[in-house]
Amino acid sequence: MRALPASVLAVCGLIASACGGTGTGGAAAGQAAPATSAEQTAAEQTPAEQNPARQTPAKQSPPDAKPLEGKVVVIDPGHNGGNYRDPAAVNRKVNVLTKWKPCDTTGTQTNSGYTEAAFSFDVSKRLVKILEARGATVKLTRTSNNGVGPCITQRAAIGNKAQADAAISIHGDGAAPANHGFHVIMPKKINGPVDKVVGASSRLGIDVRNAFAKGTGLPYSTYIGRNALDYRNDLGGLNLSTVPKIFIECGNMRNAAEAAKFQDPGFRQKIALALANGLQHYLET
Ligand SMILES: [Zn+2]
Repeated sequence: MRALPASVLAVCGLIASACGGTGTGGAAAGQAAPATSAEQTAAEQTPAEQNPARQTPAKQSPPDAKPLEGKVVVIDPGHNGGNYRDPAAVNRKVNVLTKWKPCDTTGTQTNSGYTEAAFSFDVSKRLVKILEARGATVKLTRTSNNGVGPCITQRAAIGNKAQADAAISIHGDGAAPANHGFHVIMPKKINGPVDKVVGASSRLGIDVRNAFAKGTGLPYSTYIGRNALDYRNDLGGLNLSTVPKIFIECGNMRNAAEAAKFQDPGFRQKIALALANGLQHYLET
């Protein structure tokens, strides 16, 4: 920028409000003065010397752009709070391509009775909020925790119909009390429609594993998989998916220390944030 003559600076320093020419106060005066100065100097400068910020706006994202704009995420809160009321519907066998399995299950619970269905639904709702704030379009496979189902086949179909860029099924495990830690489950090739998203699901799983460990501080599972990664071909929610999809078992609800964490809303928010960060990392790369 061209330096102003010392005499002008001295006058401005003494009577600051007069330099803007409007006399309406500090803020207005402060904005008006540089604008006039820029117009004056622009005529004397080459284009490259003019305000560089004005040269590049087309190459920059708009200031209100969100990182997940245009991305579709389907979140599947495992089980449902009303499943225990309708065993006939829940136990109906469905085809998951590698075998026949019950339509759904009731899920597990902590020793004090906090259910996996309530846990997964609460974490999912928190995750929806975070992802939507980041610009994603988010769909849940169930919108309450007092109904029955849907079947695992339908849970997969919802992700497929939405053409989700990523889908995640959220669970808490019910293993022996001494077992602890979390693990991610990814699909295996089964000579079926899921085969084409096995690679993408694996990348999604690793991103979520990394973000979950970092964000929650929970250890890798001590009892399933390797480095918190497990690959299965017996889950309908994965076998029937044609979009990148994973399951996460956030920990063992029968382990006292992990149960206490899961019953803490602050910790569930931490879980949701970690999942959002893992999904975002996958969706951005
Ligand atoms: Zn479950």
